[in-house]
Amino acid sequence: MSAQITLHVAGDERSVAAQTTAAELFEGRREVIVARVNGELRDLAHVLADGDVVEPVDMHSEDGLSVLRHSCAHVLAQAVQQVNPRAKLGIGPPIRDGFYYDFDVAEPFTPEDLKALEKVMQRIINEGQTFVRREVSDEDALAELAAEPYKCELISLKGAASEDAAEGASVEVGGAQLTIYDNLRRDGSRAWGDLCRGPHIPTTKLLGNAFKVMRSAAAYWRGDQANQQLQRVYGTAWPSKDELTAYLNRLAEAEKRDHRKLGVELDLFSFPDELGSGLVVFHPKGGVVKREMEDYVRRRHIEEGFDYVGTPHITKEGLYHTSGHLPYFADTMFPPMEFEGSNYYVKPMNCPMHNLIYRSRGRSYRDLPMRLFEFGSVYRYEKSGVIHGLTRVRGLTQDDSHSYVTKEQAPAEIAHLLHFVLSLLRDFGLTDFYLELSTRDDKKKDKFVGSDEDWAEATSILQEVALASGLELVPDPGGAAYYGPKISVQARDAIGRTWQMSTIQYDFNQPARFGLEYQAADGSRQQPVMIHSAKFGSLERFFGVLVEHYAGAFPVWLSPVQVLGVPVAEEFEPYLRGVLDQFAAAGIRVELDGSDDRFPKKIRNASKSKSPYILIAGGEDQAAGTISFRHRDGSQENGVSIEDAITKVRSAIDAKAQV
Ligand SMILES: [Zn+2]
Ligand SMILES: [Zn+2]
Repeated sequence: MSAQITLHVAGDERSVAAQTTAAELFEGRREVIVARVNGELRDLAHVLADGDVVEPVDMHSEDGLSVLRHSCAHVLAQAVQQVNPRAKLGIGPPIRDGFYYDFDVAEPFTPEDLKALEKVMQRIINEGQTFVRREVSDEDALAELAAEPYKCELISLKGAASEDAAEGASVEVGGAQLTIYDNLRRDGSRAWGDLCRGPHIPTTKLLGNAFKVMRSAAAYWRGDQANQQLQRVYGTAWPSKDELTAYLNRLAEAEKRDHRKLGVELDLFSFPDELGSGLVVFHPKGGVVKREMEDYVRRRHIEEGFDYVGTPHITKEGLYHTSGHLPYFADTMFPPMEFEGSNYYVKPMNCPMHNLIYRSRGRSYRDLPMRLFEFGSVYRYEKSGVIHGLTRVRGLTQDDSHSYVTKEQAPAEIAHLLHFVLSLLRDFGLTDFYLELSTRDDKKKDKFVGSDEDWAEATSILQEVALASGLELVPDPGGAAYYGPKISVQARDAIGRTWQMSTIQYDFNQPARFGLEYQAADGSRQQPVMIHSAKFGSLERFFGVLVEHYAGAFPVWLSPVQVLGVPVAEEFEPYLRGVLDQFAAAGIRVELDGSDDRFPKKIRNASKSKSPYILIAGGEDQAAGTISFRHRDGSQENGVSIEDAITKVRSAIDAKAQV
């Protein structure tokens, strides 16, 4: 009779035979690919002990997907070494939506190489190789992996240091005990093995045909340009072929919507080399969209009780010592310029300058809440490798506001701000949101300023407001800035991608550093709370997000050209020009295609321009004094009176209709 042990499985107590594995516990549940045992992810082959707390980890969960993808990285590495036994292994962690593996190879991979690798991987997967964990001593591992210099280097970096040493390296050697995972074929023979901390899926078979090798790119070992250049192969893996297909369709759709591509096609903006990386110029058409965004957002802020202010682009460095940004954030700022005996910085944020406006005169509780707002252009030194179109730039314009309130006013102000930012985002066509609450990492209190009480109070205020909004709330422990917790609004776009938009940030630090005060009703001097809020984050980034969300087809109120006139033949041009003048007089942005192109070509160009209304006029229209609409969906509306047509467009603009 075998001994029994007691397990806590997904909240229930279970009595099972000693030596039971997680695989036996979750037998028959194909979706369960690893287990969380006492908080740690383990292989299903892990033998459970008395008192263990065990949770099944489904391949659709975030952890499950990571394990699935990382296991696929092993299959890729095995395939690479099968094809090219001299390839040396770097690291192979899971990443968002996929994985990569770095290889030291003599030649970069060609697209044909990658296709061939996919075939070899499919054979390995079909073999149903198991992943078997084996503990090894450092010396044995070094001997076994003598031909793998990068792995040996990781072993020497084992422990805490490896986390910093190479992004993703902890996948290999994060634990105290080194382990090698062997891939065994069904007959028990060893196909391949890799130094890895695990865990992995039980068998390669689970990868089915739901994987793909995506591309390769050069990458320096441990991210350092002084090191050897490796070839990084990116891949993706999903629980099913359908999910893989859906993902690839999403990627293709995202590529079509890429704002960098559409920005050129629609003549919206560019990044001239002469300016330097990450610095954008808006062309006339992009300028129209940007101005509409600004005008609308400025008006809404004023309606919501904000005062519009203005501050300069550069300042003496002392201001950033007062705010605490220097010296700690110096590496994200552009270097200083020196003149008249002082160092000046281009500003990376507007908050300190708003504090000076607050402090410019005595404030009473009667002045609060005091809400300052501006479009503040700030400059941040982003590494050239992370700059990406409009979504990651070096010069950006924040729609930045600061509310100065009494402690008692803070909850109402935060609720007001959240309501306000959501209504703004909805006006721009984003309607699917969830919230993230970023809080202090309680294990690293020294990285955050402020007392325990301050943090607890601010966090609970934000949490209450977030919960009251009725939106899904995702915790982000440790994600707070050092000076206070924040709520961020995450918006899903037309193809389901999530973008971080607005932030509402509670700050009890800067008011203290700047000595901000107000006179309370009882005559005492009190310190206000400061609430930072950016509605879109930056105008540039939001511009990029909107281009992608709308695939360049802006709603009529934002469209650079709201009505594009296309004469059926040259002889109708004067008539159409006269009609367009009447539209322009009603405040509608118009353009006439007066080119020599033939009518069908003009129609094709008009539809490529993504203008919401195309106005056509031919003989019948001219005779009747009417016009015809051609809509984005290709449908046509003929013989519309000019007055009706103007009313129709004007009311769509005024209603911010998503035409
Ligand atoms: Zn692994
Ligand atoms: Zn701020």
